[in-house]
Amino acid sequence: MPLSTLPVLALQILDETADGVLVTDRSQPDDPIVYANAAFCRMTGYPLAEVLGRNCRFLQGGDRNQPEIVVMREAIRSGRPTVVTLRNYRQDGSLFWNEVRLAPLRADADVGGQPRYFVGLQRDVSDQVAAERALREAAASEKRSAEERAILAKDANQARQEAEHATARLASVLESMMDAVIVLDHDWRVTYLNENARRLLARRSLQVGSNLWDVYPEEADGIFARHYRQALAEQKTVSFEEFLSALEIWLEIQASPTPEGLSIFFRDITERRRVEQEWLLAHERMAHMARHDGLTGLPNRMSFRERAEYLLGRWSEGAKHALLCLDLRGFKGVNDTLGHQAGDALLRLVAERLQTCVRGSDMVVRLGGDEFVILQTEIAAPAEAKELARRILGTLAAPFVLDSEPVAVGASIGIAVAPNDGRTPDDLLKAADSALYCAKGEGRGTYRFFAPGMDAQLQERHFIRQALHGALERGEFELHFQPLVALATGGLTAFEALMRWRHPERGMISPARFIPVAEEAGAIVPLGEWALQEACRRAAGWPAPISVAVNLSPLQFGSGTLIEAVRHALDATGLEPERLQLEITESVLLLEDSASLRTLEELRRLGVRLAMDDFGTGYSSLSYLRSFPFDKIKLDQSFVRDLPNSADCQAIVRAVAGLASGLRITTVAEGIETEEQLEALRAKGFDEGQGHLFGKAVLGTEVPLLIARHQAGLVFRHG
Ligand code: C2E
Ligand code: MG
Ligand code: MG
Repeated sequence: MPLSTLPVLALQILDETADGVLVTDRSQPDDPIVYANAAFCRMTGYPLAEVLGRNCRFLQGGDRNQPEIVVMREAIRSGRPTVVTLRNYRQDGSLFWNEVRLAPLRADADVGGQPRYFVGLQRDVSDQVAAERALREAAASEKRSAEERAILAKDANQARQEAEHATARLASVLESMMDAVIVLDHDWRVTYLNENARRLLARRSLQVGSNLWDVYPEEADGIFARHYRQALAEQKTVSFEEFLSALEIWLEIQASPTPEGLSIFFRDITERRRVEQEWLLAHERMAHMARHDGLTGLPNRMSFRERAEYLLGRWSEGAKHALLCLDLRGFKGVNDTLGHQAGDALLRLVAERLQTCVRGSDMVVRLGGDEFVILQTEIAAPAEAKELARRILGTLAAPFVLDSEPVAVGASIGIAVAPNDGRTPDDLLKAADSALYCAKGEGRGTYRFFAPGMDAQLQERHFIRQALHGALERGEFELHFQPLVALATGGLTAFEALMRWRHPERGMISPARFIPVAEEAGAIVPLGEWALQEACRRAAGWPAPISVAVNLSPLQFGSGTLIEAVRHALDATGLEPERLQLEITESVLLLEDSASLRTLEELRRLGVRLAMDDFGTGYSSLSYLRSFPFDKIKLDQSFVRDLPNSADCQAIVRAVAGLASGLRITTVAEGIETEEQLEALRAKGFDEGQGHLFGKAVLGTEVPLLIARHQAGLVFRHG
């Protein structure tokens, strides 16, 4: 063994140190590894036999394109010590970051003045690399101040300098050990210590021959001693991390019993601890930011949801919780008259006062804007919520001082109690909101508990859902038809079929109200098929080429029966396919599944026309138009409403007209109510129009008359 010149103790220490150690021999071809210790084999997973005799490059696998490799090669060539951090791979192929401290061995075996042996101390620093990277990312995302960044840079610089110093000290194997080593006999007397140990413990002089506890008397019964005794008693290696208060450093320690006593390997991990600590703090701060409102520091909606879900998930235990929704009366006025800064200040003051009203277990939340809610946990009776509401109204009644001016802010409160009024955060919020709505209606400084029937919207949906049962069979639906007109000529081109529900008690119900409920309840498919059938039946009786446009719900696309329904409607009524236009919204394409695209293609093959409805209300409309060639786009009413005054709408109308003419797509504008709107659209080259200016939707029975009058030149003379 060429390393036989090393003292036995050195070899023993080398084998036990926590760092991997490799020695390579430059006098042999391809610099083979001639020594590797146990820690290296543990770290890489390679058995010793597979390491010896090989060149180190196998550790990089195929990953040879690392700048650090060049640095390392240059150092070996010039015989200089260096530190590099490499991407290395264990035997199982997994990646780890290997910090390699490389130094020539100043043994007498130098080849022609060049060192023969190189020793490489290897340490797996993957955790540090990950922590440092995470820290860097956290630093970036938090937009750390330039100052702080400068400090980080300085630390990095300092660390690099330290590393360079440490490297320079790699003069012999023992002295170059990254671990500090102390070897003790059974009487706690130092029989050996290396340079690193000496340096690290420099503040108290520990020397060969000194008793450890004479030098560190305060540790004689401390945590270090306890671990060492354990290692001796159990005759096994003990590893731990501990703060050495005498030197104010963190140490990572490994104590291994030997026949003579104890070997203690240790290193200063203060810096690593600092990095980890900093990362932990940054992480906590980010978690805090995600759950708190930046302005008031109160928990935000996310916190509220988490807490409420947790509490409500346990409602079966019989606990009651109250949710109080708050409305500030004067807030908008303050914002408008005194400015946003005053508004912000007011919100902060309100937050402070609210917190003085609650117990530690309650939660004051700012949902956004001037929306505050209070989650009052574990109440015995609703009376407690009443008490809290009164307290809050009382504190908020006193004027606030903003810009040294007193400002009065009234408040109203709505209260909902779980589990009675809601068993999910959303339901509870909705209930408290309805209660708040009622409270506001009753004037300043009042609170109201939620009562069934308050939630009009909920009620309405519930009613519609019930009433939908059997409504189709009872013939409660009818189709009305609204004309579409060619803008250039004023000629009638088509009618859009719009569904109406004539409820026996409620009268006419708008599709905007019942279609979403029908979709939710799964009733839209039969309803839509009925509309198709009915629309085609009517249109078959109109003179060609006047067409009919039928709206389709996205849910009909998923039903699997759409193609059949369309084919059946055409066959049964004899309507020519090109006189049927199907209006669909962008949301169909939003699904982006190939099934919807296939359905569109099959519809196209049937010969019907496809129109994209409410164009501009979804997003990336243009890409959808490219992905499937529609015959028509219907610009949504919201863009027509502000014509011709809004420059934005003007620009959109121009862009859509240009785009469509390039793609040979017919353009329709809906919701045209004025001559000015019509003129603006016509000027931009829109093809067709629809809206109250031309006519509202009429009963199916009235359409033939409308067509006849139109053809006689009695209506739509706008062309
Ligand atoms: P849509 O397809 O965009 O229909 C146009 C809506 O604009 C209709 O409302 C129509 O009455 C209204 N409208 C037309 N001209 C004017 C105007 O000049 N000014 C104003 N303010 N409004 C105008 P409607 O009939 O209430 O329908 C609302 C929505 O309900 C429709 O929007 C459509 O999405 C849906 N819908 C109607 N019938 C059906 C149907 O048979 N099946 C499906 N799936 N949805 C339908
Ligand atoms: Mg439509
Ligand atoms: Mg529309």
